[in-house]
Amino acid sequence: MASPDRKREELFARLSLEEINSGTFYGRWSKQKTNALIKSYSPIDGSLLASVSSTSPVDYDKLVSHSEKSYKEWVEIPPPKRGSVMLKIGQALRNAKEDLGMLVTLEAGKTISEGKGEIQEMIDIADFSVGLSRQLEGLVLASERPWHRMMEQYVPLGPIGIISSFNFPSSVWSWNAFIAAVCGDTSIWKPSSKTPLAAVAIMNVVSSVLEEEGVPQIFSLMTGSGEEIGSKMASDRRIKLISFTGSVQSGKKVSLLVSERLGKSILELGGNNAAVVSDHADMEIALKGVAFGALATAGQRCTSTRRVIVSDKIYDTFVKKMEKIYSEVSVGDPRKSGTLVGPLIDESAVRKFEAAISEAQKEGGRLLAGGTRAKIKGLDGYYVKPALIEARPDMEICKTETFAPILYVFKYHTLEDAVQIHNSVPQGLSSSIFTKDLLESEYFISHRGSDCGIVNVNTGTAGAEIGGAFGGEKDTGGGRESGSDAWKNYMRRQTITINYGKELPLAQGVEFKI
Ligand code: NAD
Repeated sequence: MASPDRKREELFARLSLEEINSGTFYGRWSKQKTNALIKSYSPIDGSLLASVSSTSPVDYDKLVSHSEKSYKEWVEIPPPKRGSVMLKIGQALRNAKEDLGMLVTLEAGKTISEGKGEIQEMIDIADFSVGLSRQLEGLVLASERPWHRMMEQYVPLGPIGIISSFNFPSSVWSWNAFIAAVCGDTSIWKPSSKTPLAAVAIMNVVSSVLEEEGVPQIFSLMTGSGEEIGSKMASDRRIKLISFTGSVQSGKKVSLLVSERLGKSILELGGNNAAVVSDHADMEIALKGVAFGALATAGQRCTSTRRVIVSDKIYDTFVKKMEKIYSEVSVGDPRKSGTLVGPLIDESAVRKFEAAISEAQKEGGRLLAGGTRAKIKGLDGYYVKPALIEARPDMEICKTETFAPILYVFKYHTLEDAVQIHNSVPQGLSSSIFTKDLLESEYFISHRGSDCGIVNVNTGTAGAEIGGAFGGEKDTGGGRESGSDAWKNYMRRQTITINYGKELPLAQGVEFKI
């Protein structure tokens, strides 16, 4: 059997990764390898996986010009033909699913199942974009003027920018890039400096397909710090839209830069998601849904369940059962099949986890389970035992997103109280209610209920499908990506009025005689 090092070497060879990779792709990989290196470490054991050279200022300009140039060619290809290219990309991703999934596991620390799931999400959105390429519809509207017709149509934007977070190192890019591609746009990706290798490997896969298909290289990649390269993209008028995924703090900076130039942005920012568990819930489904939401990806999903609001009628039973789940959950090497909770991304994430727990305790919270570092034999990674904390909704720490597995438990008396607690945080991404009572679930999904962009009934806050529009309200930024009609964000809307008569009647009956 091959040693772990040998296996890694073979994986990297299959994905065309090197010891030092170029982090700049614009139709070809830039050879400038002398810039600052971004080192990619595995959170599993702290080992250096490989390095990526960041994008130089000269390359930055070359890359944006390349994206503008390839847009001019790509936009002339009819949308369904663009869709057939996306079909090939979906097939190439299917072929590379195992390898790319393993790379996501190595670089982001996700379990094997979640690593593969992330690549499956890319495949799903590729499939979705194929269908969409034949459905980019507009509208025909009634005109108040005789012999007139009004229409609305959507036309492509040009090069768009995608700035992505570490926790979904591949799929967030595809949600944007694939939809934008069938819309006729080209895209420029700046991934997180914590996960640059996944981006390099994906670029290798998709650029080969574009080359084989003889179409322009519409996907470009640049790497570097958010403050430097990310801000530059946000301020760059040539980049027509910035789709930003990351923390509220960084998103606010990006939003200011983009709005200063009156550009367009999609903001997909942090969440502070809660599940309401009613006394009418199926207890087993609720426990599983909340546990998956709070523990999957070690609590490092934007949709992770961070608060659970439990009816006082079942509170003690629910909490006792949850304590048992927390005390038994398997934390460890995400490459092992039984592991449910892998490592946090780095040491700083562990410190934030510890700081939040001590802050919660200072504010009067009671640690019920976990909350310490976890030692995993032979692995010098960033492992913690997920924390379950009995808390009060007015505690400040419960209103902030700590990107780690901490679940705050609150008690409620009436459903109105539960909703009030639920909505009392600045963020508004994902929410759920566990109940078999129709009146309760209808209340929760109505305007009286959850104030989030995503509302679920009898399923947890995490794990959205690509078919719906994804995004949240309030501090989460209001953006929508992925399915449904989110494609409209990647195009500009034109209202067209056609006069096919022999006179020039004016709207609102205005007279203008010359
Ligand atoms: P982050 O904000 O630290 O970084 C995200 C990206 O922004 C990175 O590529 C980073 O380099 C870049 N960046 C940072 N500062 C920047 C600046 N001033 N200008 C331009 N770019 C900048 O976030 P992270 O730690 O990588 O990811 C975790 C966060 O992302 C969490 O808050 C999580 O909830 C959020 N997230 C949201 C969604 C969503 O869809 N709503 C999805 C995934 C993650």
